[in-house]
Amino acid sequence: MTRRSQSPSPGRPPGFIYHKNRRGILRRGQSLIFHCDDVPLPKLAEKYGTPLYVYSASMIRERYVTFDDAFREIPHTICYSVKANSNLSILRLLARHGCGFDVVSGGELERVLAADRKAARRVVFSGVGKTREEMNAALKAGILLFNVESESELWVLAECAARLRTQAPLALRVNPDVAAETHPYISTGLHKHKFGVPIRNARALYAQASGAKSLRVAGVSVHIGSQITDVAPFGEALARVAELVRDLRADGHTIEYIDAGGGLGIAYEKPDPNGFSKDVTDYARALAEPLRGLGVHLLLEPGRSIVGPAGALITSVVYRKANDGKRFLVVDAAMNDMIRPALYSAYHEIVPVLLGENDGKPELVDVVGPVCESGDFFARDRELPPVEEAALLAILDAGAYGMALASNYNTRPRPTEVMVSGKSVKVIRRRERVSDLMRPEV
Ligand SMILES: *Cc1c(COP(=O)(O)O)cnc(C)c1O
Repeated sequence: MTRRSQSPSPGRPPGFIYHKNRRGILRRGQSLIFHCDDVPLPKLAEKYGTPLYVYSASMIRERYVTFDDAFREIPHTICYSVKANSNLSILRLLARHGCGFDVVSGGELERVLAADRKAARRVVFSGVGKTREEMNAALKAGILLFNVESESELWVLAECAARLRTQAPLALRVNPDVAAETHPYISTGLHKHKFGVPIRNARALYAQASGAKSLRVAGVSVHIGSQITDVAPFGEALARVAELVRDLRADGHTIEYIDAGGGLGIAYEKPDPNGFSKDVTDYARALAEPLRGLGVHLLLEPGRSIVGPAGALITSVVYRKANDGKRFLVVDAAMNDMIRPALYSAYHEIVPVLLGENDGKPELVDVVGPVCESGDFFARDRELPPVEEAALLAILDAGAYGMALASNYNTRPRPTEVMVSGKSVKVIRRRERVSDLMRPEV
């Protein structure tokens, strides 16, 4: 290997990359060290321990700007989906760039307000089960839009707003009955799913809503699912929404906003050499087409596509073991730290943090955690360069739905999270202690 830097696989964006050894941390035969921005990951692992979430601030910023730029020809606001990664420092970073937020609980709203109180007017509130307490908090904060998902919710919102002597700005989340190719657990746009109201019932509901003094009809909202890599279904859904907007305007409603939801997928398995900028441009084009001439303000709720590739989970190999012919790398991260492989059979690229020139033949291994579940794995029958016990591995594309879905199963404290920006490193969440976990208990 003669190059100074090397991507772990073709087409990967540059936030996580191998650099040549400079300061002789390496043993003989090893030559490449995996970095986040300018920081070598072995240094972080040594200082903060493993498992460890590492995020690249520059990559989050860059992806937000790329996303925003792709929609420059349409009046729009990006409302980052907080559930993908709700760390306060990440919210603050995005808020500083003018980003809005999509929240799905009162807790997420509190996080946004804690990160930047002024961001409230760029908040949309989604979710099928909003409680009165959550609605009241959002009304007091003065959010931009409630995405209402049922008739019952409409009347509860009307009642809450009336009590507070205010008006609730709302969109109905319509279910367009559009199929999108993704994992069944994260597909949401079919009539069999619990989300939204059937699009054919929407007109009648809007008529009812406009009769309530404490409600202000402001938009139409749609979200068909997550990790969708073909942009056609987004266009299809939006074409149905555009048709509804025309009908609603003919009925006399003021429709300022179309909220197109989130869901743009990322390439976990084979990153596209043309990269994110092409994907998001295609996405913008698919959405722009049905909006032509409509004169609406577009709201977008990306989560995964902003933060997914900007994070990695660093873990170390505790044991190597072989059961008959099968080889396992038992690592110190587990399904409680990152559940995507167990929950969705998700694929995550895994790479050794130190790479050698004469590492020998790749071997077929299962990368598994220590939790007492056979579902506790990160990869099965994966070809990896041979690594020894105590070696570090990086699980890539862990920035979205990684820490956000982490739990304390098996009384495992959740990992430290650090944010890297160029050469600087900041702990943005300290590792939990077992005493933190026991504190609320009697
Ligand atoms: C989960 C969710 C999103 C974000 O989805 P991504 O796939 O992370 O972009 C946006 N809007 C709503 C309503 C959601 O439930």
